[in-house]
Amino acid sequence: MTESKSVLRNCKKCNRLFSSTDGSVFCSRCNTDIDDEFTRVREYIYDNPTSSVKDVSTGTNVSTEAILKWIKEGKIILSDSSRISFCERCGEPADGNRFCAKCVRELEKGLKSGMEDRQAQRDPSRGGMHIKEGTQKK
Ligand SMILES: [Zn+2]
Ligand SMILES: [Zn+2]
Repeated sequence: MTESKSVLRNCKKCNRLFSSTDGSVFCSRCNTDIDDEFTRVREYIYDNPTSSVKDVSTGTNVSTEAILKWIKEGKIILSDSSRISFCERCGEPADGNRFCAKCVRELEKGLKSGMEDRQAQRDPSRGGMHIKEGTQKK
């Protein structure tokens, strides 16, 4: 005899009370919905391999979070021409780039200020006449 404990819980999606027998966090109705959404997303990406996450989300009416989760879980395999990618720095969606827009901005800023620092350090003799350097403690 198999002991299946059924637990009453609220569906994570529609918040309806249902009895969960297999540890599912969604009611059976939402489980079917999610299957549908997944199929829709997979087919959309298959048909439109170069679309961005936002395109897919608009085209399928599925939230970008759900789409990205499936991609991260490896449930949806992207083709080489896909514009969906994840930032190498923070893991956020990056629209086919190596870094997301936020990290690109931060990297550019960091790069610039890093270069300015280095120039300021390196150039005091070469035209940095107005850089105060006289008060070096030794
Ligand atoms: Zn539900
Ligand atoms: Zn990022």
